[in-house]
Amino acid sequence: MLYDALLTEEEKALRDEVRKFVRDEVPADLLRAMDRDEIKFPYDFIAKLAQHGLRGIRFPKKWGGRELPWTAEVVAEEEVGVLGVALGCAFVMTSIVGEALNVFGTDEQKERYLRPIITGTKIPEEALTEPRGGSDFFGATTRAVADGDSFILNGQKRFVVGAEAADFFTVYCSTDPQAPPHQRISMFIVEKGPGIKI
Ligand SMILES: Cc1cc2nc3c(=O)[nH]c(=O)nc-3n(C[C@H](O)[C@H](O)[C@H](O)COP(=O)(O)OP(=O)(O)OC[C@H]3O[C@@H](n4cnc5c(N)ncnc54)[C@H](O)[C@@H]3O)c2cc1C
Repeated sequence: MLYDALLTEEEKALRDEVRKFVRDEVPADLLRAMDRDEIKFPYDFIAKLAQHGLRGIRFPKKWGGRELPWTAEVVAEEEVGVLGVALGCAFVMTSIVGEALNVFGTDEQKERYLRPIITGTKIPEEALTEPRGGSDFFGATTRAVADGDSFILNGQKRFVVGAEAADFFTVYCSTDPQAPPHQRISMFIVEKGPGIKI
């Protein structure tokens, strides 16, 4: 819990804004409807977050974000967190997937993937965990093997929240199992399509 004394005025204003959003814009029954399987994926929630500029809190304004610090995003996450884990996951996924795109992506990739996840027109999901486990990040066994100008990916992931709704995934794969752990894996952007079974 971030205490008031630690927050800037801007962060306090964001907290109040997100608290109001959660109270006024999100139906109280949404989580229960998801539990009852009446709603498979909270598209309306994502659309509303985007309308209110809450999908890219710490990403550059150039790509549609607000360019606020991490601490501001955590403040927003605490407020959205009262809605439960499912909606909390839907909220943080922009950040989890967007971080790599923002730090390592080319401008073309940012235009194609980062901007649309901030504007809510594409749904991103993260495929890290495998049936063998998730804590051992660098031990990913999903393989990516170079094949000319392409890579061929083979493997299995699990606990990929919102996978059915994803337009694309960031997939962590081993490109060189013999390399030192931190050089072993790479992240691929994989659009949903033939060859992916969910
Ligand atoms: C709400 C939620 C949403 C998630 N969403 C996603 C998602 O969208 N995409 C995705 O890829 N994954 C997702 N995950 C999965 C998450 O990343 C994994 O659960 C996490 O990485 C841990 O992996 P695991 O569950 O396989 O546990 P394991 O890695 O099998 O660990 C099991 C237990 O062993 C302990 N342990 C592991 N290694 C060691 C060690 N070396 N020494 C001592 N103890 C150890 C762990 O602390 C844990 O208690 C989600 C998980 C949750 C809870």
